[in-house]
Amino acid sequence: MKTTQDHPIHDVIISGAGPVGLFLACELALAKCSVLILEKAADPHSPLKQLPFGIRGLSSLTIEALYRRRMLNELELYKRLKNPHQNAKQGPRRQVGHFAGIPFHEGDIDASQWEYRLPGSTDTSLISEMQELETVFARRAESLGVTIKRGLAITGFQQTGDGVTVQSGEQSFHSKWLVGCDGSRSVVRKMGGFEFAGTEPEFTGYTVLADISDPEKLSPGRNVTPTGMYVQSQPGYVLIQDFDGGAFHNSEKPLTLEHVQEVLRRISNTDVTITALHTATTWTDRARQATSYRNGRILLAGDAAHIHAPLGGQGLNLGLGDAMNLGWKLAATIQEKAPEGLLDSYYAERYPIGAQVLDWSRAQVAIMKPNPPGRALYGIIRDLINTRDGATYMAARVWGINMQYNLDSNHRLAGRSVPNFEFEDGVKIGELMHNSQGVLLDFDGNVSLKKLASAYGDQIRYVSCNAKDRLGVSALLIRPDGIIAWAADNDPDYNELQLAADRWFERIS
Ligand SMILES: Cc1cc2nc3c(=O)[nH]c(=O)nc-3n(C[C@H](O)[C@H](O)[C@H](O)COP(=O)(O)OP(=O)(O)OC[C@H]3O[C@@H](n4cnc5c(N)ncnc54)[C@H](O)[C@@H]3O)c2cc1C
Repeated sequence: MKTTQDHPIHDVIISGAGPVGLFLACELALAKCSVLILEKAADPHSPLKQLPFGIRGLSSLTIEALYRRRMLNELELYKRLKNPHQNAKQGPRRQVGHFAGIPFHEGDIDASQWEYRLPGSTDTSLISEMQELETVFARRAESLGVTIKRGLAITGFQQTGDGVTVQSGEQSFHSKWLVGCDGSRSVVRKMGGFEFAGTEPEFTGYTVLADISDPEKLSPGRNVTPTGMYVQSQPGYVLIQDFDGGAFHNSEKPLTLEHVQEVLRRISNTDVTITALHTATTWTDRARQATSYRNGRILLAGDAAHIHAPLGGQGLNLGLGDAMNLGWKLAATIQEKAPEGLLDSYYAERYPIGAQVLDWSRAQVAIMKPNPPGRALYGIIRDLINTRDGATYMAARVWGINMQYNLDSNHRLAGRSVPNFEFEDGVKIGELMHNSQGVLLDFDGNVSLKKLASAYGDQIRYVSCNAKDRLGVSALLIRPDGIIAWAADNDPDYNELQLAADRWFERIS
C-alpha cells in the first residue's frame, strides 16, 4: 500500500460490508491487493440478519465457491440443519426449493440428468444465515489484512485517471479503484453515473414477526387469496404479498402494528389480531439492473448492480457470483498482469446471468398475481413442477447447476464450473483451489503442458494426476474463479490452449 501525505492509498475501496463486499474483499486480499471497506452501519449485528429474517438459501455455485476457498466448513448452521434425524422425518418429500411458492421436493429431482456433477461434489443447496455468513467473511477478510471501518457511509467520490478519492462526511480516503457493494440503494451507483433500468413493482412484500392472539385463524401453508398471498410458517412469523403496486414500500409511512394488522386482515380475509409487533420489514419485486457494471475506476457488484424480488432466494447467490468473477480480474488489472479486455469480461459474463435472474423473478410474480390469468398459469406450472423433469429443471435453474459463460469454445465444459474431479489419492480438485490460482489439470502427464503452464509463472499451477472419473477429458485449464477456460478430450491442441491461456493470464516468459 502506498501513502500520500500520511494518507494510505489502497488498491481498492469497497463501499459496504454486506456479504458481497466482504467476499469480494477476501478475493482481492487473497490475490495480495490492499483493501479498505467502508460500511455505513456501526453495528454489524441486526435482527434482520438473524433467523428467522436472515435465513438465506445458498445454491450450488456459492457452495462450491465457499468450499474452494475453505470457508464452507466454517458455516455451522447448515450442519445443524443437516441433522439426518430431522430430514428422515420428511423423507423424499423434503421441500428443497420453490418457484412462485410452488414447492419442489428432493425425491422428485433426477440428479442423474446433471451429467457434469461427479460423486463427491458439494451440496446443491443449503440453508445459511446472513449474520453467520458476514461473520465468517469478515473474519477471513481481516485475517487476510483487509481493513473494515464501520459507521462510515460513503457520501461522495471523485475519480481521476489514476485513482479515486472517497468521502465519508469530513473524512477522505484514497484508492486506485472503488467498488460499490452498498446494496439496492447504492450511493456508488447513484453518484457514479450508472443507468439502472428495469421494471416497477407489482406488490409490497412484508416479513413479520409478531404475537398473534388467534394464529389458528390463519390457514397453514401458502394461501393465495383474491387480494394477495400469505404464509404463516411458524406461529407469528408471517410473509404477506399485497399487490398494491409497491405503493406502501415506496411511501414514507411507518410500518406500524395497525398497518400490518390491516394488511394481514384484508389479505387473509380474517379478523386476526396482532398484539405485539417484534420485527417487520417490507420489500418489493422491483427488478432493475445497471446497464453497465463499470464506469472508469468505479465498479458495481451485488444488489448495487441488480435488484429483484427475493422469491426463491437468488440475490445473494448472484452477488457472490459477481464477487467471485470480479475479484481475480480486478486484482490482475491492479497488478498490471491482466490481458486486454480481462476486466471488461466481468460485465460481459455477469450481466446476462443477472438478467436471467431478474426474468426468473418476474416470471414468478406474473403467475402469483391474484387474477384469472395468473391463477391459470399458476395451475399449469404447478402441474409441470410436480413431474420429475419439471422438478429437475426448476432445481437446476434455481441452484445454477447448468450455468455456463459463453467463452466462444465448442467444448461442452468450457465456461462451466469445474466438476469436482477426484484424483486417485482421494484429493479433489476443489481442495487445490484455495489460493485463487489458475490450474492446468493434466490427466495424461503431458510434459508439453507442464512447459506451457510454466510460461505463466505462479498464475497457473500445473497439476498432473489421474482422476477416478475424467468425464472423457484429457486436460483442462481452470480460471481462478473455478470456471473452465479450455478443455480437450484427446490430444490437446496447443495453439488452442495457448490462446485460451493468453486470454485470461499474462505470459511472463
Ligand atoms: C426477505 C429477503 C429474503 C432473501 N432471501 C434470499 C435467499 O434465500 N437467497 C439469496 O440468494 N438471496 C436472498 N435475498 C437477497 C439477499 O439478501 C441480497 O441479495 C444480499 O443481501 C445482497 O448482498 P449485498 O452485499 O450486495 O448487499 P447488502 O446485503 O444490502 O449489503 C450492503 C451493505 O452496504 C452498506 N451500505 C449501504 N450504503 C452505504 C454507504 N453509502 N456507504 C457504506 N456502506 C453502505 C449497508 O449497510 C450494507 O451493510 C433475500 C432478500 C430479502 C429482502
